[in-house]
Amino acid sequence: MTSRLSSHVVSANSDSTDFPLNNLPYGVFSIDSGERRCGVAIGDYVIDVATLERDGTIDLGKPLLQSGVWNPVMEAGSDVWEQLRLRLISLLDANSPDQNHVTNALVPLTEVRLHMPFTVAEFTDFYAGKHHATNVGTMFRGPENALPPNWLHIPIGYNGRASSVVVSGTQIRRPWGQLKGPDDAAPRFAPCARFDIELEIGAIVGQSSDGPVSVKTADEMIFGYVLLNDWSARDIQAWEYQPLGPFQGKATATSISPWIVTKAALEPFRCDAPAREVELLPHLKDAGPMLYDIDLSVTLQPKGKGPTVITQTNYNEMYYSSAQQLAHHTSSGCPMRVGDLLGTGTISGANKENRGALLEISWGGKEPITLDSGETRSFVEDHDTVTLFGAACANDYRIGFGRCEGTLLPAKDNPFA
Ligand code: CA
Repeated sequence: MTSRLSSHVVSANSDSTDFPLNNLPYGVFSIDSGERRCGVAIGDYVIDVATLERDGTIDLGKPLLQSGVWNPVMEAGSDVWEQLRLRLISLLDANSPDQNHVTNALVPLTEVRLHMPFTVAEFTDFYAGKHHATNVGTMFRGPENALPPNWLHIPIGYNGRASSVVVSGTQIRRPWGQLKGPDDAAPRFAPCARFDIELEIGAIVGQSSDGPVSVKTADEMIFGYVLLNDWSARDIQAWEYQPLGPFQGKATATSISPWIVTKAALEPFRCDAPAREVELLPHLKDAGPMLYDIDLSVTLQPKGKGPTVITQTNYNEMYYSSAQQLAHHTSSGCPMRVGDLLGTGTISGANKENRGALLEISWGGKEPITLDSGETRSFVEDHDTVTLFGAACANDYRIGFGRCEGTLLPAKDNPFA
């Protein structure tokens, strides 16, 4: 395990900062209503790399940091990814000769507004956590049929919508949808009454492909990772999901954290997937450690009250890596694009306190949880704020993801009335 790198930005040298010099996550910020600029988090600051490129301090061969999104850097390829990271480390290192110049480009994080760090080309969501799939399957189909027969052979997924992916801090509106009536009653159109979260990680595809790619190549194509909350309307989903899978139940919003944590920063935290229960076909076989040891947690905070931790788990609980999901995604010849976002699927651990969705935590609403405020919850209530946290932790530093946060607003009046 590597140790913490020392920076001339003093707040980056704390054991508890999310953003030590080892991390250098990529985001997009503005000051007041100013233009969107590419920035990199370091300690309590964001460094304005768009300005440093304009004045020649960062030179990537051609301008890549001026568009207010990170897609051009991704598209430039892995040599440029490495070149930029090495340049940033040298500029921010404790012994940097450029210290005074770089300090002028630092903006306190408390003074910036964060935006979508990249343009999402397309969004695909998977279902690759075995504990989650087993729990949900047990609730929907009984314990004998919990895991579908294909589950141990392929990472199941569906094509979602890029248009509904939003950055942390965006408020979420409770949706209306078609819900099954009780017993044989006719379905009705009503506000969702079982609005839920899903704790996931999103992998960002940084290189395009045209045709099937191997698991090893898929891993090389991934640029970085974000926290991802796949907001889910369980009552809409339960009525609509057979036989083609989720649709409107997943279409309201998907929140992501504002900082892209690069694959390079996570490298010391790679770990193997769990033991295979059945042998995978050759094109999906593990090609090295491709999961990461990332601690994850979620808090739920009612309006005017303190937050309660409702779950704690780890990304290493996944059965399939994002690289395996990406390889599977291309196996039919499906082209991938720069900026494609792949959700892992809900990350649940073995026990009740490690489950990544309220559907599982409250067992379909039958076992509501009690918050620190004394209130109970089966699903998300109006004005609740849900926050995802994630960090890969070494002895003296952490690779933090920042927050992925959203507040649920009440449903509006019937949009069709
Ligand atoms: Ca999901």
